[in-house]
Amino acid sequence: MVRRLAAVVASLIMETPFLSHPDPDHRTAPATAARQIALTRLHDEIAACQRCVADGYIPSAHPIFKGAIGQRLMVLGQAPAAPDRERPRPYMGASGRTLRTWLSRAGFDEAALYERCYLTSLTKCFPGSSPSGKGDRAPSAREIGYCRGHLARELALVQPEIIITLGRLAAVALLGNAALSDLVGTLRPLARPDLSCLVLPLPHPSGVSRWLNDPVNQGRHQQALALLAAERIRRGL
Ligand code: SF4
Repeated sequence: MVRRLAAVVASLIMETPFLSHPDPDHRTAPATAARQIALTRLHDEIAACQRCVADGYIPSAHPIFKGAIGQRLMVLGQAPAAPDRERPRPYMGASGRTLRTWLSRAGFDEAALYERCYLTSLTKCFPGSSPSGKGDRAPSAREIGYCRGHLARELALVQPEIIITLGRLAAVALLGNAALSDLVGTLRPLARPDLSCLVLPLPHPSGVSRWLNDPVNQGRHQQALALLAAERIRRGL
């Protein structure tokens, strides 16, 4: 009888993940699954969002972002490029090529941008072309405000360890007002009580900005990539 009882207890232990797995990461699996469910729901909400259309900022909403729970890096841009049926993911054009080159200079492999980074932006919809004809229009403070809640929830659910911001708008949205020259080449903690994470500002990779033409800024950019490389090694990213 005692032997039978011991066998039943042993089989229960083997079938119960929390008891049979001494790996502490395994105990977080249900929490991770719950976060992924919540993130999928949030993605559905963002996909249905029409706030900027309702206020006349954009003719139609095509939110673009990509990612899942477990991605330890987040790339935060200003806004996505024009939606393209053949390139439904963020950073599939020239900006993406430049960004992949920068990541490779920090020691990441070719697939890292799409496989290991949660890709999002301050506003999730293409804001249209710039009135000057050079590049895309920068989203207004009102549009960024409309989309801020989406970003806050993405941060809370994804819990990235490092956020790579692209361009000044994305950097100051997280770090406060400053010149891009004072931000690129630094690695700063994000001031949020619910999230322990670092922010690494980079210039925008679109090629429209002339910021990187200045040799001093090229040095800042190199310093930023060196900081990213050091964190990649230190954290095993
Ligand atoms: S940019 Fe953001 S707030 Fe505006 S319509 Fe798109 S998802 Fe909604």
